[in-house]
Amino acid sequence: MNVLVINCGSSSLKYQLINSDSEEVLAKGLCERIGIDGSRITHTPAGGDKDITEVPMPDHTKAVQLVIEKLTDPKVGVIKSLSEVDAVGHRIVHGGEKFASSVVINDEVMKAIEECNDLAPLHNPANLIGINACTSIMPGVPQVAVFDTAFHQTMPPKAYLYGIPYEYYEKFKVRRYGFHGTSHDFVSNEAAKFLGKDRKDLKIIVCHLGNGASISAVMNGKSIDTSMGLTPLEGLFMGTRSGDLDPAIVTFLSNKLKISAEDVLSILNKKSGVLGLSGVSSDFRDLEKAYDEGNEHAKVTLEAYSYRVAKYIGAYAAAMNGVDVIAYTAGVGENTSLIRGMVGEYLTFLGTRIDPEKNKLRGETVVISTPDSKVVTMIVPTNEELAICRETVRLVK
Ligand code: ADP
Repeated sequence: MNVLVINCGSSSLKYQLINSDSEEVLAKGLCERIGIDGSRITHTPAGGDKDITEVPMPDHTKAVQLVIEKLTDPKVGVIKSLSEVDAVGHRIVHGGEKFASSVVINDEVMKAIEECNDLAPLHNPANLIGINACTSIMPGVPQVAVFDTAFHQTMPPKAYLYGIPYEYYEKFKVRRYGFHGTSHDFVSNEAAKFLGKDRKDLKIIVCHLGNGASISAVMNGKSIDTSMGLTPLEGLFMGTRSGDLDPAIVTFLSNKLKISAEDVLSILNKKSGVLGLSGVSSDFRDLEKAYDEGNEHAKVTLEAYSYRVAKYIGAYAAAMNGVDVIAYTAGVGENTSLIRGMVGEYLTFLGTRIDPEKNKLRGETVVISTPDSKVVTMIVPTNEELAICRETVRLVK
């Protein structure tokens, strides 16, 4: 069957049409600047060139309509008609405590997702708009919601509770949820499969290092801890997010800069992390270049970044009382040998040994540790769209 995978943001919509039998991507694309002047759709059929069309998209319904037009276009299309889209899988950011797995979307599910809006005010409403747009353009086509938070719902209370009055958890559900769950689930599964083992028999640490970054401890197939929290701001240094810091910094900076707490949070989300600390870029390709050229800010930033990754790995090794596999994934994890190497230097106490030659590899599933390493260290490319496609098929078949 053909599954249309949709990742809807407030002004963007990413899509992939995947044949679930061959797991081949038939076409993919991006609608940008929805509801803003200068909107455009970039559509790429498999093996074909990018087709960019500037066209007004006042809302997401128009965007979905254009996606279908491109998919069925005589020149750049890959299917004859809308009837060849058998199901739609949506990436939904926050499922709160309501969703511990993916679900087929109906009115009740829509309502429950809406009830989680509070927890992800920028993302969930956009995800709902995307679902509604698909319902109006493709009525009758089954739709599935796949949640970023669901995989981490197996975390025990000792991992998800913050050290604040318990009533805030009871009243407002203030707790750690974690994100990138689809990726942590997919990568830990692929790592076990590649090693010819059952995930249920392994202690795996997944390092999802992309523009957003999080680490998880996956024990016997279940997430028992992860570094992101109530929101994706907690945990590691990221492209533009600060990760962990003293919460008193929020009011301290608010007073010093004479700006609101909301504005400080915006700085912590959008202008911090490796971008803020280095002053160079949020992109690791630029940071590595600056590092090679001897830029001291880039150097300390990459040191601080890898130091924090290593500390989390150490913490999760303790949380699971051991670790069998460390798997690196996402843009930085899959491509940046410098970071993997720097992190590896902290982990020799666990008996990990990285093979410097194998560590030069990128973007493929491969073991980069030496045969005598006590912990298998790997690169495992993530594929969240494929994971959403598989979940969709599982639920609608
Ligand atoms: P997200 O999905 O969170 O936007 P990605 O997983 O696509 O992020 O990762 C994006 C980041 O990965 C880029 O900002 C860049 O820092 C890094 N990256 C991607 N490709 C490379 C590369 N070839 N070398 C080094 N870093 C890379």
